[in-house]
Amino acid sequence: MERFLNYVSGEHRPARSGQWLDSVDPATGEVWAQIPAGDTADVDDAVAAAQEAFRSSDWRRVPTAVRAVRLRAWADAIEANAEHLSEIETRDNGRPLKETRFAQLPGAAMQVRYLAGLAEEIEGTTTDIRPEAFAYTLWEPVGVGAVIIPWNGPLPVFFAKVAAALAAGNAVVVKPSEHASVSILEATRLFAGLDIPPGLVNVVAGTGAAAGDAVAGHPDIGKISFTGSTETGRRITRRATGNIKNLQLELGGKSPHIIFADADLEAAAAGVAGGIFTPNAGQTCVVGSRVLVQSAVYDEFVGLLAKQAENLAVGDPADPATGMGPIANPAQYDKIRSYLQIGREEGAELAFGGRTTEDLFPADSRLRGGYYVEPTLFTTGDNRLRICQEEIFGPVAVALPFDTEEQAVRIANDTPYGLAAGLWTENLRRAHRLTRALRAGSVWVNTYKALHWALPFGGHKHSGNGGAAGGATALREWMELKSVWMNVGDPAPRGEER
Ligand code: NAD
Repeated sequence: MERFLNYVSGEHRPARSGQWLDSVDPATGEVWAQIPAGDTADVDDAVAAAQEAFRSSDWRRVPTAVRAVRLRAWADAIEANAEHLSEIETRDNGRPLKETRFAQLPGAAMQVRYLAGLAEEIEGTTTDIRPEAFAYTLWEPVGVGAVIIPWNGPLPVFFAKVAAALAAGNAVVVKPSEHASVSILEATRLFAGLDIPPGLVNVVAGTGAAAGDAVAGHPDIGKISFTGSTETGRRITRRATGNIKNLQLELGGKSPHIIFADADLEAAAAGVAGGIFTPNAGQTCVVGSRVLVQSAVYDEFVGLLAKQAENLAVGDPADPATGMGPIANPAQYDKIRSYLQIGREEGAELAFGGRTTEDLFPADSRLRGGYYVEPTLFTTGDNRLRICQEEIFGPVAVALPFDTEEQAVRIANDTPYGLAAGLWTENLRRAHRLTRALRAGSVWVNTYKALHWALPFGGHKHSGNGGAAGGATALREWMELKSVWMNVGDPAPRGEER
């Protein structure tokens, strides 16, 4: 059994307790690796290492162009190791290899380069308050920050968040998910050949209750960038009040995907299937899990979506022919199966799907121990149902009919979440009206799940507080603003001047 180690102060180490956690291959259900069961002691070590590196290394003092060059070397290393890292990512969390290898890892390298470039664009402003005042602002690094990561996209979140933190001049402690830490622990090996001081990036694996809680409450961590569920976001917020941490929360969603009768329905059906089923079985924060369809084309559209689902081979994420991979871990598999039951009990109709591993693979299949749910669609007229309001985080969508544009907007906005929304129509005026009326951090028109590092990304309502994270101002998430007033007149004005 291969064991992967924490990364603290530039060293690869087991947890101080000597305890380990199993990591499961979701394609087969087999334990394939072990990760350290880090806790408070390991988090304390990591924070101390980060503080020391922030204080004594040259990282935040080197010219920003030099910082950028060093980060671009990291991007090159990511690219050179993309094959190895993507294989581990797929093995550990079940996201199909065609996505990890050919989309996520190359994208991560490009995003790191983009963020490296932003280091050279850190700039404040000068303000013309009065002739004898030279008043200006400085953006400065927070110091020691933390990044807490979910299991559904470990490497992309790790590379993007850590690159932004480093580009802004910080040191970080990273806490990956106990369900998918291996790829991140392995990725720390890339730092060996780079000019990034030891201790600047530290990774402590462990459960949320042990390592995660220790990070959230740590008095020497000034900022947390958290990606995960809304419930954990609330818990971290409560825990982080001790030293008034700066929090950035990217949380859950229940995003609406709206199809008007005038849309290109074939394209919309492919977009909806790509937005909820493929390739990683609905385990993406922005999945379009509520499909609102105008009544005139409702039956036709559900038929088109069923055809899309039929063409998706559910299976081994390492097989390029696979259309949809497994559910990433047993806990999530149980959760999704419970929602299949809840949907039936609530009286929603099962339009297609609903089968899980035992129904999908014969008893002698090596995938029989894995966690599979086929593409599933419920239909209902009642947006109050739990399957319409609660995040399932799996390949389970619910279709709801609507008649008018106003009705569509009302249903679309009627959940606690506000992460993303999709809209299919050929009517330009309507498209513009709706992009403003929909309460979501990202709105897509005649496409879905289109993401790019140059565009801000974040959630509204219970989906987060980082409405404008990312894009050209991405580093500000990791910086604090300072105002400077320098008296250049004579005599000096009173201290309280405003
Ligand atoms: P989760 O909230 O269970 O866990 C996320 C991380 O928080 C893990 O590292 C976990 O160990 C840690 N954690 C758990 N309890 C903690 C505690 N008490 N204190 C500190 N840390 C704790 O989420 P998950 O199941 O890993 O991921 C799925 C969720 O993430 C979904 O809700 C999904 O929508 C969301 N997500 C959001 C985005 C986004 O950008 N908005 C992106 C990806 C995933």
